[in-house]
Amino acid sequence: MPTVNVLVVGGAGYIGSHCVRQLSAAGHRPVVLDNLVFGHREAVAGEIPFYEGDLGDATFVAKVLQGEEIELVMHFAAFAYVGESVENPLKYYENNLAKPITLLKTMLECRVGKFILSSTCATYGTPAELPIVEETPQRPINPYGQSKLDLENVLKATAEAHGLSFAAFRYFNASGTAEDGTIGEDHDPETHLIPLVIQAAMGQREDITIFGTDYPTPDGTCLRDYVHVDDLSRAHIAAIPHLGKPGQQLFYNLGTGKPNSVREVIDTVEKVSGLKVPVREGPRRPGDPPSLYADSSKAQKELDWKIHYPDLESIIATAWNWHQSHPKGYSK
Ligand code: UDP
Repeated sequence: MPTVNVLVVGGAGYIGSHCVRQLSAAGHRPVVLDNLVFGHREAVAGEIPFYEGDLGDATFVAKVLQGEEIELVMHFAAFAYVGESVENPLKYYENNLAKPITLLKTMLECRVGKFILSSTCATYGTPAELPIVEETPQRPINPYGQSKLDLENVLKATAEAHGLSFAAFRYFNASGTAEDGTIGEDHDPETHLIPLVIQAAMGQREDITIFGTDYPTPDGTCLRDYVHVDDLSRAHIAAIPHLGKPGQQLFYNLGTGKPNSVREVIDTVEKVSGLKVPVREGPRRPGDPPSLYADSSKAQKELDWKIHYPDLESIIATAWNWHQSHPKGYSK
């Protein structure tokens, strides 16, 4: 594959930083733009060009696009706290929709015609049927999911009007960390299940609360599709050669297709760590669908996407290693 100059917006964040490393490993040339609101400078290796700034700053972005001769933009810089999106929707529509529109306008002005979006299974809301295929009706149930769906629609219209070629990946539950332990997952605040359970195992939290034990699932707790962050990253790279023709519109679910319950996550952390996790049972968290898992055969077939981490244990093992070597995250 020829080397492509890729601007990774949000490249210092969790998924973006993993993608940057996979881009380099595949022989591409990533350039990172991140405002470091949630990103970590340490997550980007020293030799990668790094620009600290905001995707909504058109003058700044245009300079980077032109100066680095960017051919494709990958966009990871969204806000992703569902509860906060309900309380403060304008913050989410501004960051996840308005600013990316400015980014797209800047790209068109600079004649950069290829784009890859981090979208989400939250665009499906509570689906009527499982597993979720790309044609499953998208009916988001919170402003976070809606802002991503709106951006997908903006991309469609831009492809039709201006020939933008894009891929939108609808991630299921991104998890795990780089195999070699050099980069990882460090959110503040942390709300995701796997890191929280690991922190409880390590004694950094008193316990983990299971949000609901009365769901219509085999063990009464929610089912989710946990997919390794490096598998997600590799799908982005596999999509690059498919964006050659102007006006391409590609949509893919990215998950392993295997549902795992909250209790299974806790059991697996105990198995991988050899430690007991203190557990509390609590009420349901508002807005949590009982089950979400993907049919990702479209990505596997069309992009030849291969899942390297098909099971929860191998995913959690990488996360466990990172938390062991970085008990306080990046900065300490
Ligand atoms: N969850 C839980 N306790 C927690 C955090 C999460 O029981 O402290 C559950 C949550 O209800 C969901 C699953 O774990 O069923 C995954 O939640 P997470 O926030 O990691 O991802 P989401 O599926 O909401 O994107």
